[in-house]
Amino acid sequence: MSSRPLEITPVEEWGFFTLPRPMIIAGPCSAESEEQVMETARGLHDLGIHVFRAGIWKPRTHPGSFEGVGAPGLKWLQKVKHEFGMKVGTEVASAKHVFECIKYGVDIVWIGARTTANPFLVQELADALQDTDIPVLVKNPVNPDLDLWIGALERLNRARIRKLGVIHRGFSTSEDILYRNDPQWKIAIELRTRYPGLPFFADPSHMGGSRKYLLELSQTALDLGLEGLMIESHCHPECALSDSAQQLTPEGLREMLGKIVVRDKDSDSPTYREGIDQLRAQIDIIDEGLLYSFSSRMNVSRKIGQYKKEHNIAILQTSRWDSLLGSMIEKGRAYGLSEDFIRAVFNAIHDESVRTQNQILSE
Ligand code: PEP
Ligand code: MN
Repeated sequence: MSSRPLEITPVEEWGFFTLPRPMIIAGPCSAESEEQVMETARGLHDLGIHVFRAGIWKPRTHPGSFEGVGAPGLKWLQKVKHEFGMKVGTEVASAKHVFECIKYGVDIVWIGARTTANPFLVQELADALQDTDIPVLVKNPVNPDLDLWIGALERLNRARIRKLGVIHRGFSTSEDILYRNDPQWKIAIELRTRYPGLPFFADPSHMGGSRKYLLELSQTALDLGLEGLMIESHCHPECALSDSAQQLTPEGLREMLGKIVVRDKDSDSPTYREGIDQLRAQIDIIDEGLLYSFSSRMNVSRKIGQYKKEHNIAILQTSRWDSLLGSMIEKGRAYGLSEDFIRAVFNAIHDESVRTQNQILSE
């Protein structure tokens, strides 16, 4: 599906982050008390973090869990701004939240995963934020639906919000996986490919659900070329009222960030360029060869379709397909190709082949 263009103000022009990458947004899952907010912010400010996050209104699964301190916590964020000169941000889920944030001078807001999944709420937020100049970061919806995510961006953009970015926090799943949410990086890659200019953050805290996964998830995000990270940090994570297991102290964050390898997005160095250009030229030739092979294969598929039609034979012979796929997986393995890859490629080829043959049959 082709996407409508978004009008985006480059993140460098927001005046929020110091370059180079990664841009970091850090702070506790929830603002709990003035002391906790100030102590955490002090620690993060000492690390050189410029953007402080804290949840004021918390979307919790069960009623009766800590649901955030509400508007009074915004005064503490104001204090963080004044005392440390940091930018402050929180999650908004209703027009009322937005108006409170405007009142207290919140610098940046994000839309949480549960809210992105609801177009009514996103529209309400877009209307409330219209023409405010407050940057808005949109977390992916809880379900792996890229169009729903893009739809939210379009709604905000139509309300003339151009300081717009995204946060990839992974997707809910019923599968038994290592992480709290399934990263499904391919969805992030697809969004990045469609909107290369869209500021892109990853949230390894909600993705991993445990501080032990923060480093590997952050590294993957940065290796994919994402601009920054939103990470939960609490001065005393063990006492946190929400998301205790995934938060780390400012000191822990310093250590973790120190271990990340930040690779350049690209390079103009002549030696690098020469090497990469040669390799890319090889890829281009191979890709053309692939196109030629696909086309030859489809020509044979068409002949088979014609032949089956003449003999009044059904298109799909699943046993033939199963044995072909099995043998390709086997051969692919000998070439060092993974089963998942072979399955994906040959299923796509098979689908196209069946579609073509069906067309012939109905002609
Ligand atoms: C959060 O950032 O604290 C939060 C609730 O995240 P998410 O919307 O990704 O669950
Ligand atoms: Mn949280």
